[in-house]
Amino acid sequence: MYAQNAVQFHYQISMKQALSQRFQVTLNATGLTGPVVDLKMPVWMPGYYQLINYAAALDSFKVTDSNNQPVSWQQTSSSTWRIAHKTGTALQVSYHIKASQAFVAQPWLDTGHAYIAPTGIFLYAENYLNHPVTVSISPFTASQTVATGLPAIHDQPLTWQAANFDILYDSPFLIGQLEQLPDFTVQHIPHHFIGWQMGQFDRTSFQQDLKKIVTTASGIIGHIPYYQYTFLAIGPGRGGIEHLNSTTISFSGEELQSPNGRLRMLSFIAHEYFHHYNVKRIRPVALGPFDYSRENRTSQLWVSEGLTVYYEYMILRRAGIMSNEQLLEHFQQLTASYENRTGHLHQTLAQASEFT
Ligand SMILES: [Zn+2]
Repeated sequence: MYAQNAVQFHYQISMKQALSQRFQVTLNATGLTGPVVDLKMPVWMPGYYQLINYAAALDSFKVTDSNNQPVSWQQTSSSTWRIAHKTGTALQVSYHIKASQAFVAQPWLDTGHAYIAPTGIFLYAENYLNHPVTVSISPFTASQTVATGLPAIHDQPLTWQAANFDILYDSPFLIGQLEQLPDFTVQHIPHHFIGWQMGQFDRTSFQQDLKKIVTTASGIIGHIPYYQYTFLAIGPGRGGIEHLNSTTISFSGEELQSPNGRLRMLSFIAHEYFHHYNVKRIRPVALGPFDYSRENRTSQLWVSEGLTVYYEYMILRRAGIMSNEQLLEHFQQLTASYENRTGHLHQTLAQASEFT
């Protein structure tokens, strides 16, 4: 196949409209075959087990061809844009995404920083999920940097490559004046911790605990299946989402200052980290490859989440961060909250897994 006919997807993300909290997104697609191309916005983010209407945040949709002439399109469902297409013609698609909901499964943009939850930003072309995609990002100011688990393309500044759309949808970006803690290695593999507004805390002792967590968690399985791992700390808030070689976590350094807050934060980080094994790689068959146009339900979440909760405490104990007494206290609290609620009398674990 000649290069000019190869299927290529390139995204450019501009943060110029940060004041109105809109990402400007441009997609250049070549090599697609006609007569129509269906572009779709996901309704599902891996790791977050509910439908999300990402398409509702999209506006100003436009399509032109390689001669800059308008191309006709129509919206055929709430999340589908059908474009009239001649095979051999390149398409340039542009749109805006309003990003004003601060939540771990939603994109966010202001003048100070941005978070790209990829399922809320990037359209995919139906039947082309397996193709590679490149992404270039223009931050709001030159002093802002970009953190992501994706590999950078070295001769193109601020440009990254994903082997396919599944990898892209599993790779968030954090942009802003970011702070990066010194990298550490486990089994010779580098681990990065990069955050925005991380607050006041003892960075050295935190990083020592983080390394103990990664060493202990990976020691349970014995093999580290990635080439690098990135913790993306997106600022204060609640929640995290696990990915193959990164995790997004809400993070506030101040929480580390009380003994209980520290245990809570470290067990949360151990939980999200251990998910790169249990749910991302050891997983129910329904959880990948995903159909992004609908829910992906499984009756096995009690294994993916339940065993991960068990191991988050076991990892802290084995790492020497939590005492035997503290471990038993946590399990006692979990057992008491299970016994004191009536849910288990009405619903099996499998039912609870499917209808979270
Ligand atoms: Zn979890």
